[in-house]
Parts: sequence; structure tokens; C-alpha cells
Amino acid sequence: MKFYPKMLCMLALQCGAAVALAEQPIQVSSLAYDGQLGHLSIAVSASPKHRVFVMKNPSRLVIDIKKATLLGSLRQPPATHPLFAKVRLAVQNAEGIRLVVDLKKPITPEKFSLSSNNRDEHRLMVDLANKPSAVAQAKPNAATTAKKTDKPAELKTVVNKGRDIIVAIDAGHGGNDPGAHGPQGTEEKIVTFAIAQKLAAFVNAQPGMKAVMVRKDDYYVGLRERMQIARAAKADLFISIHADAFNDISVRGASVFTLSTQGASSEAALWLEKTENAAELVGGVNLSDKENVLASVLLDLSQSATLSASQQVADSVLKQFDEVGQLHRDSVQKAGFIVLKSPDIPSILVETAFISNPLEESNLLDTRYQTMTAKAIFNGVYEYFKKAAPIDSRMAAL
Ligand SMILES: [Zn+2]
Repeated sequence: MKFYPKMLCMLALQCGAAVALAEQPIQVSSLAYDGQLGHLSIAVSASPKHRVFVMKNPSRLVIDIKKATLLGSLRQPPATHPLFAKVRLAVQNAEGIRLVVDLKKPITPEKFSLSSNNRDEHRLMVDLANKPSAVAQAKPNAATTAKKTDKPAELKTVVNKGRDIIVAIDAGHGGNDPGAHGPQGTEEKIVTFAIAQKLAAFVNAQPGMKAVMVRKDDYYVGLRERMQIARAAKADLFISIHADAFNDISVRGASVFTLSTQGASSEAALWLEKTENAAELVGGVNLSDKENVLASVLLDLSQSATLSASQQVADSVLKQFDEVGQLHRDSVQKAGFIVLKSPDIPSILVETAFISNPLEESNLLDTRYQTMTAKAIFNGVYEYFKKAAPIDSRMAAL
């Protein structure tokens, strides 16, 4: 049974059904700041899908290269370069890479081109006219108007381009389901909602991030419906907030959970029964006309990426908790919680404290403690996205 997924994998690759899987990433090998001012060229192994734009405050050039990977390290511009300050790799993931070039002064983008030389090497060429934003003082005249029609500018100056990262926040229980009770009668659903709301406020206060509350009030939402709400909101992350309970009232502390691999594989089996579900998971590849074997391979890939992202978020959140409060378990726990089973949305569940412990019950009711808890979760999430922001998100360019 253990070797089954591996075997499926080999089978699928052998029958050449590797569609989206084996697509070679484009290799980005070097950067050159040669010749004229504001000229940057990037060596690539094939013509990439790309976009280039400029952002303000601070002034920087953003270059997205789809389905690409960076070979080696980035060569920095010389310190004396009049325009380019520093180049960094802002994002590198399955979607591609994002390079950000910090600029020493505001620029007016001029043109952008892709060219090939005699060898089979391609280059992305970016030319930036280095007019230190004297645009405002230059009066429009016939010459500039005529020049405008020369060639459509392919670079745009954009402020805060990119989408928000969506964080789905699930306050555990609700309505007829009060969850666990504390010794004083405190209901879990009340405190999870209070913490969830505070977490949402922190998320919404962060430029480039947006919170979606899974339940917006004291009513019950089915566990699978919670996953669906997150999917409908196109969530990048799902966080379920709970409070723990145990019959020994001395037990206390927080824990963070991700889905166990057993939970994940049984869920995969369930999703595969409905091919329309599976198709949704693998970036729109239509699975209906493909072998089941391939479907399971694709699903497997999506799922292992999700599990690994969930683990990273959970580690990051746990680290923050360690600084503010007591931990019940000092490593991320695994369980088969249904709400964590979205195969394509990284998901974590936080047991914020033990409601069954008298001290923690009072803490859970305390607004400052709720805020502290929400802040710890937010910091963990923020630290994670600082390193792993989706390539098309605003945060990746910040
Ligand atoms: Zn609960």
C-alpha cells in the first residue's frame, strides 16, 4: 500500500502523459548592466512569458518571468551605477520568478524588448530612459506628442500593482454547536469568534493582505462548507481558530495543527471520485479525458505542495506563539481534521489555549489576551508570506 503512489507516478510519466508536469522551466542565467544608462539585459534559455513594470515609492523595476527558474546568484550592479541600486529575487516558486531592481531615482520607462542573438540564447532587454521625473516641469509640446505615437510604451508605471493575498479565517464552531465549555461555562464558539475578528483586523490592516471571515456571526457552518467558502474566496491560506479542552484541568498551552498525510491521502481518494473536483485542483488541466492514473499524480503533486506550505505556515505561527505564551506542544501537530483537507489551499488549525483550564479560560475571555493571540497568529502568517508571497500578489512587490 505504501508504494502505491510512487508506482502510479512512474506509470504516468512512462506513458508520456506528463502534460503540465515535465514542462522544463525557462532558465534565467545572467544579468548585464552594459553600455548605456538604464539598460538591463537578462539571459534566458527560451522566450518567456513575462511582464515588466515600474513601481513608485520607493522607485523600482519589477520583472516577472513566468515558468522560469534562476540559475546561480544575481550579479549586482556596480555601486557607482547611476540608476540601478540593487537587484533581488523577490519570488521564486512554481509560477516563475520575480526580480525587483531598486532604482536610485524615479524613471520614465521607455521601451522593452525581447531579442535573440545568433546563438540560441535569448535576452530580455529593458531600456529605461533616465529622465529624472522632470516630466512634471516639461510643458507638453508638439515634439513630445509626436514621439508618443512612435511606439507604444510597453512599460507602465503602476502603484501597488498585484492582487491581495486572501486569508480565510475560520472561527471554530458556532450556532447550535458551542464547542467545548470552560469551568465557568465559557463557550468555545464565543472566544474563537472574538480572536478570529481580531486576527481579521490585523490582516486587513496589512497592505497587500485581505481577510475573509468564514462565519460572520454566531451561526453554524458545516465543516466542508467552510472549505468551500475559502475556495470561493480564492483563499491563499485557511486558518481555523479553536480552543482545546481536556478532562485534566491542569493541562494548558497552545498547539498548531496541519493535516496528517493519512488524512490527505484519504481525501485525495474522495476527490478523485469526482473528476470535476480534481480538475479544479491542477490549474485548470481538464482531467476528464485523461487516465485516472494521471489524475492521481497531478492531485498528488498539488497536495504535497499544499502540505509543505501548510507546514511552513504552521511552523512560523508556532514560533510566534512561543514568544507570547505557553505552548502545549512545541512542534506542529498532525491530525485528520476535516476543515484542513482542502488539497490546494494551505491550511492550519490553531488551538489557542485550553478552555478547560481555569486560568486559560479567563485568558480567553480577556480582550488583551485575545489581541495578543491574534497578533501572534498574524505575525506568523506575515513572516511566512514575506518569504512565500504568490508571484502575482502586491506583497511580492513590496
Ligand atoms: Zn474546537
